[in-house]
Amino acid sequence: MSREKRNGRSAGSAGRPDAERLKVLVTGAAGFIGSHFCERLLASDCDVWGLDNFDPFYDPGIKRRNVRELTAHPNMRLIEGDIRDGVLLDGLFSDVPFDVVVHLAARPGVRPSIEEPELCFDVNVQGTLVLLEAMRRHHVAAIVFGSSSSVYGDSDTVPLEESVAADRPISPYAASKRAGEHVCHTFHHLYGMSVHCLRFFTVFGPRQRPDLAIHKFARLMVEQTALPLYGDGSTSRDYTYVADTVEGVMRSMRGVVEASGTDPVFEVINLGRSDSVTLKELVRELSSQMGIEPRIEWLPNQPGDVTMTCASDVRARSLLGFEPRVDLSEGLARFVEWFRQQYSGNDAPLLKPESSSAT
Ligand code: NAD
Repeated sequence: MSREKRNGRSAGSAGRPDAERLKVLVTGAAGFIGSHFCERLLASDCDVWGLDNFDPFYDPGIKRRNVRELTAHPNMRLIEGDIRDGVLLDGLFSDVPFDVVVHLAARPGVRPSIEEPELCFDVNVQGTLVLLEAMRRHHVAAIVFGSSSSVYGDSDTVPLEESVAADRPISPYAASKRAGEHVCHTFHHLYGMSVHCLRFFTVFGPRQRPDLAIHKFARLMVEQTALPLYGDGSTSRDYTYVADTVEGVMRSMRGVVEASGTDPVFEVINLGRSDSVTLKELVRELSSQMGIEPRIEWLPNQPGDVTMTCASDVRARSLLGFEPRVDLSEGLARFVEWFRQQYSGNDAPLLKPESSSAT
């Protein structure tokens, strides 16, 4: 899979003239993390192609709003299509000699995956395989795969280290993400693809998915509806502000591109703050920032939800120089500011009532 074959350049990004701009395909570009990542790429002078099928997992109108400004940028093209469509991918990869794919498209969420496990696997595993196969056919040799902390299952050994087997997933979503990592490794092994699998830890901030806890709780507080809290409030998550996650993805992307020409890599890397916050603490902090005293409805633990996530950040720091800058309090302040603007307009999006606190 030499890069000379596909675009006549000297091998790998090591031979890339400085002035040459990276051509990046971002799957799931209209989603929460994807839209932030595209913004970051454009700010770094990359040429960006976004691929998204505006999946109805949550209101596609929200996704269209996520990309409204992005699509006005001269270096951004948005393709509406499905990662499972190999013909579409063949056309796209024939037209554009991509340097790297950042694969964020997925059917996310633990609880929805329990309701529709086959759909979850079709998109997250089969979709990843179709994408990798297209990359192989068109000699695109570098990929960043958006994985999840959920792959660790209900581990009581924290912080969670990438070196553990992570072979006891407790939801179809977690299993699909772990399987996605395995498929990526297979393509690294067989075809020399350069791969980073990034395990995201509960990402939050402006444009957060409406099914995720912070966004859902904020909405319920405004509606003066009781917050459904599962368990006794002691479950905890390593909340990571989206700009920090995106910075980690950026560094990872440059790493896989750099390695793809010379010495292809396969790495699994946590992207988390290594700081776990309980559900009770989260609600306290959010309600204080919202200035609303919430009503709580206590409910039993949900199947598929893990008790605690807390990333070991040793690998991310050493391989990517990853240094999260925004703590929970500052991140919530930024989220609340965005939320207020968002929900004061006439076209305020609707949330689905059934929601998940997991990712
Ligand atoms: P999101 O749902 O906002 O974004 C995913 C995007 O993928 C959506 O815009 C959706 O329309 C698109 N998509 C879905 N199926 C597709 C298909 N078949 N073809 C093309 N596009 C498709 O989710 P997000 O929170 O931004 O998550 C991005 C990635 O990060 C996902 O892979 C998710 O599993 C992973 N992740 C997210 C979190 C988190 O806290 N948000 C945590 C762990 C992992």
